[in-house]
Amino acid sequence: MDVQDHSRGSQSVEISKVAQKRQIVTELPGPRSSELMVRRHAAVPRGVGGTLPVFAERAAGGVVVDVDGNSFIDLGAGIAVLNVGSSAELVAAAIAEQAARFTHTCFQVTPYESYVELAERLNLLVPGNVERRTFFVNSGAEAVENAVKIARSATGRQAVVAFDHAFHGRTLLAMSLTSKAMPYKESFGPLAPEIYRLPFSYPYRCAVGASPEACGPACAEAAITAMDRQIGGERIAALVIEPVLGEGGVVIPGAGFLPALAEYCAANGIVFVADEVQAGFARTGRWFASEHSGIIPDIVTTAKGLGGGLPIGGVTARADIVDRIHPGGLGSTFGGNPVSCAAALASIAEVERGGLVEAAQRIGEVLEQRLRPLVDEVAAVGDVRVIGGMAAVELVSDRARKTPDPAAVTKVLARCHSEGVIMLKAGTFDNVVRILPPLVIGEDLLSEGVEILEKALRSL
Ligand SMILES: *Cc1c(COP(=O)(O)O)cnc(C)c1O
Repeated sequence: MDVQDHSRGSQSVEISKVAQKRQIVTELPGPRSSELMVRRHAAVPRGVGGTLPVFAERAAGGVVVDVDGNSFIDLGAGIAVLNVGSSAELVAAAIAEQAARFTHTCFQVTPYESYVELAERLNLLVPGNVERRTFFVNSGAEAVENAVKIARSATGRQAVVAFDHAFHGRTLLAMSLTSKAMPYKESFGPLAPEIYRLPFSYPYRCAVGASPEACGPACAEAAITAMDRQIGGERIAALVIEPVLGEGGVVIPGAGFLPALAEYCAANGIVFVADEVQAGFARTGRWFASEHSGIIPDIVTTAKGLGGGLPIGGVTARADIVDRIHPGGLGSTFGGNPVSCAAALASIAEVERGGLVEAAQRIGEVLEQRLRPLVDEVAAVGDVRVIGGMAAVELVSDRARKTPDPAAVTKVLARCHSEGVIMLKAGTFDNVVRILPPLVIGEDLLSEGVEILEKALRSL
């Protein structure tokens, strides 16, 4: 795709000139952000969380600039959304162009080509040489909800299997599939019925006590026994799983775990749903994280990175499963909005043009090289996990017992934020520092951000 064709107007060119540097010029929060925080607290419920007390003014590449002129290195990417950066040239231009033509018709009322084209792209990108269909919704949670609806309808079964440490969203069914009580489920019940939770392979904390090397097969065996003996394989509509846990703390399952589950699902007519909302779309150094273990999911859910910053969720399903749903059974007023579809197509073009799948692999190499030694050098670092542009440092107060240390994470993040590096927390025990840079981040900026993290960890 020719860049020039798409960069109309001066706006996107302006934004792409955000200097790629870290610079803190006021106290944090600065005066303008402080004013806005007061208004925020008066106008927005406190239930809506907040990581940093600064307000964004503009952002590009690996930098977010706040309203007081402070520049932060972005190692959060808006929670794994900004894989192509937050004002990527092709994306900004495609949005402007589509917005000038039309912003909405509702695909179910008057369809438009970009929706179909995006469906075609995803049908080919998702792993496995299988006939696929894709439709679009507004968010990750909605994609997961629809995957379960499809699986129940197609199988005529009700039970749904989810896993320890899983995060699938905040709507009723997605929240019910999510593992962590606080803050996601606390006080929000009753939850959706017919959900069964099984162990996820977490080599550092194997649920069945196996060694890190044996955790994959051991947890798969435990999960399969539970499906077989407690739930009944013939009662299970879907198994919903993140190929790499995101909110759960960037947990990479042990080798053999996912293939064994996929095999059990295939043998028992269970729809295998890979929730790739966070790990998908080039984040882990593959288009989809499922590729790392060679599995071919029946349904893949996408959202976060898909829209290049605009809201869109995708459900990509095997045609023979999803086409059993009656006409009108699936849809959404805004789902696959034309502006979001244009942004998503441009975002795919940016991944291809920028070689961002490979960029994620290189980010992973840098992070691995820098973070791995900390396991031996810093007592509080219990585990380091890296898979492409997705990394975690798990902190413990007692190495032998692996006692989670959430207070240390709070300290480390506060230090990083005050020095101008955006980083996120994760994990069931709130004891994981999570690193999710935009895949377009420069290596200097990445190194500088990681150096600040290292310093914060060493000073614990
Ligand atoms: C973020 C996330 C969701 C929910 O996505 P929303 O767009 O916030 O609804 C679902 N699954 C996974 C794996 C996620 O990381």
